[in-house]
Amino acid sequence: MILVIKPDATAEQIDHVIQRIEELGFKSHVSRGEQRTIIGVIGDERKPQAETLAAIPGVEQVHHILKPFKLASREFQKHDSIVKVGKIRIGGGHLAVVAGPCAVESLDGLNRIAVHVKKAGANILRGGAFKPRTSPYAYQGMGEEGLRILRDVGDKHDMPVVTEVMDPRQVALVEKWADMFQVGARNMQNFDLLKEIGQTRKPVLLKRGMSATVKDLLMSAEYVLAGGNTNVVLCERGVRSFEDSTRNMLDMSAVPNVKGQSHLPIIVDPSHATGRPDLIPSMTKAAIAAGADGVHVEVHDCPEKALSDGPQALLPDQFARLMEDVRKLAAAVGSTVD
Ligand code: PEP
Ligand code: MN
Repeated sequence: MILVIKPDATAEQIDHVIQRIEELGFKSHVSRGEQRTIIGVIGDERKPQAETLAAIPGVEQVHHILKPFKLASREFQKHDSIVKVGKIRIGGGHLAVVAGPCAVESLDGLNRIAVHVKKAGANILRGGAFKPRTSPYAYQGMGEEGLRILRDVGDKHDMPVVTEVMDPRQVALVEKWADMFQVGARNMQNFDLLKEIGQTRKPVLLKRGMSATVKDLLMSAEYVLAGGNTNVVLCERGVRSFEDSTRNMLDMSAVPNVKGQSHLPIIVDPSHATGRPDLIPSMTKAAIAAGADGVHVEVHDCPEKALSDGPQALLPDQFARLMEDVRKLAAAVGSTVD
């Protein structure tokens, strides 16, 4: 860290700053310039007390050198992480294509959709059993029965399954039935949930909160990593903006932005980002071109009867056509859909 001292700080204040730095277990390196004094603080700046340095009288600014997310950072691990979900690898040139309905609605319904997405080339099946709905009156999901159905259908089609977990109390149950947890946008900063998932070794798809910065997303990943669970895949799914012709604003720059700062894989969810089937194919392709480690697309064979997110679902044949382009693009960027 570098502390910039106020131009009018007294010698006593500067001595006090140095004393506090040393009391906190850091070393200090003072450079007195003609106009300003700056103090280099040497030690692990992620120590919780480091923050308090900004409150010492005479300190004007504190500049951090290290990223506040240590385990998630590229500094900590140079090579890309590869996360395994069942037999599927995500990252390091292996693309995840996560597809399925928003919600698990019935065994037959999920099975029909799974047949289509598997045939088209998806490698992970999705479906929510616990649905985080803005309205308490909207469809809330099938709960445990939905998890069983998802497991059955995934096994039948030899696809690992991902499903949302909303509460620390659901972690053990979801862990039992799914191959990957999904932490949804609304729960990205549910820190108790992240800590609980950190205690497991099951992969997690961590979606960006709708008003979260890229740094916030990486800090949330850090919660899971700090618990010892290294199997974190990030997901850009758009953030709230003033634009009202799309459901959210897709921040495609988050992909290279995250990749520069972190070794964790990141995939893109154009379904929740745009909310519009007419935009999903081009945004899926843009995601692959931007270097994403995969995509997450909602597919339904009868969107008008879907119990949630029907209007944004791709039809199976639209998804199959999109997958042809995805494979071509993957080859062009040197990636594969295993
Ligand atoms: C979902 O994947 O169905 C979902 C609710 O996503 P998000 O948390 O990104 O809104
Ligand atoms: Mn959905």
